[in-house]
Amino acid sequence: MYLYNSATHKKEEFTTHTPGHVEMYTCGPTVYHFAHIGNLRSYIMEDVLEKTLKYVGYDVNRVMNITDVGHLSSDADEGEDKMLTGAKREHKSVMEIAQYYTDAFFDDCRKLNIRIPDTVQPATGLIDDYIKIVSGLIEKGSAYVAGGNVYFDTSTLDRYYVFNDHNEEDLAVGVREGVEEDANKRNRNDFVLWFTKSKFEDQALKWDSPWGVGYPGWHIECSGISMKYNGEYLDLHCGGVDNAFPHHTNEIAQSEAFLGHPWCRHWFHVAHLNDINGKLSKSKMTQDKQEFLTVSLLEKKGYDPLVYRFFCLQGHYRKALVFSWDNLDNAAGTFNKLIARIANLKPGDGAVDGEALAALKEKFTKALSNDLNTALAVTAVYDVLKAKTNDATKLAALDDFDQVLSLDLTQKAAAKREEAAKASTQTAGGYAITGEGDPAIDALVMQRYEAKKAKNFAEADRIRDELKAQGIVLTDVPGGCKWNRG
Ligand code: AMP
Ligand code: ZN
Repeated sequence: MYLYNSATHKKEEFTTHTPGHVEMYTCGPTVYHFAHIGNLRSYIMEDVLEKTLKYVGYDVNRVMNITDVGHLSSDADEGEDKMLTGAKREHKSVMEIAQYYTDAFFDDCRKLNIRIPDTVQPATGLIDDYIKIVSGLIEKGSAYVAGGNVYFDTSTLDRYYVFNDHNEEDLAVGVREGVEEDANKRNRNDFVLWFTKSKFEDQALKWDSPWGVGYPGWHIECSGISMKYNGEYLDLHCGGVDNAFPHHTNEIAQSEAFLGHPWCRHWFHVAHLNDINGKLSKSKMTQDKQEFLTVSLLEKKGYDPLVYRFFCLQGHYRKALVFSWDNLDNAAGTFNKLIARIANLKPGDGAVDGEALAALKEKFTKALSNDLNTALAVTAVYDVLKAKTNDATKLAALDDFDQVLSLDLTQKAAAKREEAAKASTQTAGGYAITGEGDPAIDALVMQRYEAKKAKNFAEADRIRDELKAQGIVLTDVPGGCKWNRG
């Protein structure tokens, strides 16, 4: 398996601390609002990654946090507390907001066939662990107390990691644009491990600590949660590309300083979902009162959430993906045609041919093992449909691929087949019309039959043309007629 590693800036062979086993960590959502479909692009691609690792034979322990404290509106410890902003907006408590949006996130995951990680830990549940790490960092001389807060001292590091070929200077300036410098910091990249001197008088959640009553910084939660459930050696850490700096950089700094050895070997970052205004962002959509692009909105507009998953799989995770309703319509059209083609396969048509199945799996596995090329993996699905083998083998291959793609391919096709079978109607005179369950169309097909019987061929042709204009294809069969939407 080859994956691009943003820590080394190259595609490399994926290796793990314990052969055959992957310790995987994912940065979870900040639960002050619904997840937008951009956030969910990251979770879809991370889900595909986890399922691919299992598909190629790894056993995976996957951990995710839920950020319910400490994430400020600028990722560099500045600005408003995001959770407090959400609570104020909705006149609820921070914990009520956290519970509501955590449940909403899981609902979205279920609709998108995203597997919920083995362990999901709300950040507020492990405060003692963060305090232990922060104390350890102070003891080792990697952190200091200033103005009541505890800061990580980045000058103690051999290397302050930066991902994705960005220039450290640019990023440092970028995240601080428009916000005041914190005068307590010894170095401009130092970051807060523990806040006591909060600028938020009404900070809702506070805990006792050796440095006074306060709350943890955002970055420490991911290190603490991962160390608790993944252990000291992490194989794979995932997040959207905006998490790379400063969040992941700071996670590496504090984890390696605390543990005294390299921490995570592989970093996986998903590029953004953009719309015509640029990166999709919760705060931007809220402030500008734009349409908030959620899974529920897609459903309200009549889209199957799995069409969105299909849309994401058509692109590569390291390239920005542009969302528009037109682009989603295209994906929906392609997806529905694909399901219709699968529905034409006949289950139980012969025995599964093991050799043919292995050949079909090869291209699929190769695509995913080459830096998770999901677009090519989707074309492997079309190769199955074109393959010179029986339908039983094709359906077995599709079920096998769907362990990773999770598009419900054969289930949706079976439902379509059932729908078509149910729609069969027997009419007077033994003329059978088999359609898709639309009585108005059935009636026109019957009229056409009556016209033909009366040798009124002009009328029969007129009806056929009228149906054709509606996209209905008629196929005359012995003793009746079949129709379907082409
Ligand atoms: P948040 O809830 O803001 O903490 O973000 C949750 C996840 O979504 C993180 O991994 C982010 O990096 C990721 N993310 C945020 N915006 C986008 C976007 N427009 N496209 C893809 N991923 C995103
Ligand atoms: Zn994180």
